[in-house]
Amino acid sequence: MASEGKRSLSVLNCGAGLPFGLGNRLARTYKEHMTRHTIMEKLQILADAAKYDASCASSGTAKKNSVGGKGIGSTEGMGICHAYAPDGRCISLLKVLLTNHCVFDCHYCVNRKSSNVRRARFTPREVADLTLTFYRRNYIEGLFLSSGIVKNSDHTMEQLVDAARILREEHDFRGYIHLKTIPEADPEIIHRAGLYADRISINVELPTEAGLARLAPDKNAGTIEGAMGGMKLAIAEAKDAKKRFRHAPGFAPAGQSTQMIVGADSASDNQIIGKASTLYGRFGLRRVYYSAFSPIPDASAVLPLKRPPLMREHRLYQSDWLMRFYGFSADEVQQAAGADGMLPLDMDPKLAWALKFRESFPVDLNRAPREMLLRVPGLGTRAVKNILLARRHRTLRLDDIARLTVSLVKIRPFIVTADWRPTMLTDRADLKSLVVPRREQLELFG
Ligand code: SF4
Repeated sequence: MASEGKRSLSVLNCGAGLPFGLGNRLARTYKEHMTRHTIMEKLQILADAAKYDASCASSGTAKKNSVGGKGIGSTEGMGICHAYAPDGRCISLLKVLLTNHCVFDCHYCVNRKSSNVRRARFTPREVADLTLTFYRRNYIEGLFLSSGIVKNSDHTMEQLVDAARILREEHDFRGYIHLKTIPEADPEIIHRAGLYADRISINVELPTEAGLARLAPDKNAGTIEGAMGGMKLAIAEAKDAKKRFRHAPGFAPAGQSTQMIVGADSASDNQIIGKASTLYGRFGLRRVYYSAFSPIPDASAVLPLKRPPLMREHRLYQSDWLMRFYGFSADEVQQAAGADGMLPLDMDPKLAWALKFRESFPVDLNRAPREMLLRVPGLGTRAVKNILLARRHRTLRLDDIARLTVSLVKIRPFIVTADWRPTMLTDRADLKSLVVPRREQLELFG
């Protein structure tokens, strides 16, 4: 077959027997086809390898895909992922690695050097070309680019920056770019990444230093946090310069984020929550992403055999929201956990907190300040905003609240309205059984 293929190619190359010029055009088409095929193969390998990075993947949902022509769409975060632009728009990104070759040996990673996987490598120009091609076809609005470490950290970081530079400087690409950075690289190269990217992320990987030392022996917590600190400073300086000089260059205007792997080490939810809170406080992160460790092919013996329940990842996201949007401190969120430091899986952490601290309830929805309304299980930020608006004009009744929440059953023991007072309900010993949602409602969170 190989010689048959070669003969076909040589026939096409010489164009024998074909009208003048057509042979050359076919040869060109064939070559283009071969090149495309190689690029597509690489894309398949490197988009698949990128799916383990949850920094822009949908989370807390069932894994589904449309491989084999069954249905349409995917929740596995492979190929195209979604992110939110600074103005709140949801945008589609080409999610890919520059390469899955890696000289590091992080135990939890399918691309580690001792892993037996197919390897591939794009050039920065190939990544830029792919991004532009997909962009022009309206498949994507931007790029999420990460990489294994090839040769060394500086070399790899240079390549990542170069892909972004080609897009921005040579093609005036104005779409969204999210670059993963390599904390071990020279800070000057990392800084250049911020000049081209909308968002920068630096993964802390694991919630504890001990976990990092055990599972990612080539990485160092101090180096990772040092890079985050440098990024925070550069973002703040650029914002400041923009205020003073309208034409000052932008720097990672969508901020920086990070990712923590959940369940690969023995860290409890409370340790993860504590770490996330420290990271938000110290480095002004836009987001901490939580990625439930999933057993990988050819897994290292130091890893757990079973993945943690996906609901654990979901509860951690909910705890994150409580800290970012609901005014809870890390200590308060941690109080929702059990004695083992783990958040309950059968209810959201806000409900778990309310059940533990019943003395804070019921909350009078016609009088309580915003911060107390936000503590009520079943009331999201939008519902609280609507309550505050509506009560300026009238006294709220239970029916009004029913229109703002998905579950009156869940909310009733914790509120007072003009026509409702829970009397003894809030203190009932069996309250949990009355308000913990049935299984199919577990995904809803107020
Ligand atoms: S540095 Fe570690 S996590 Fe990143 S690709 Fe290499 S082995 Fe995987």
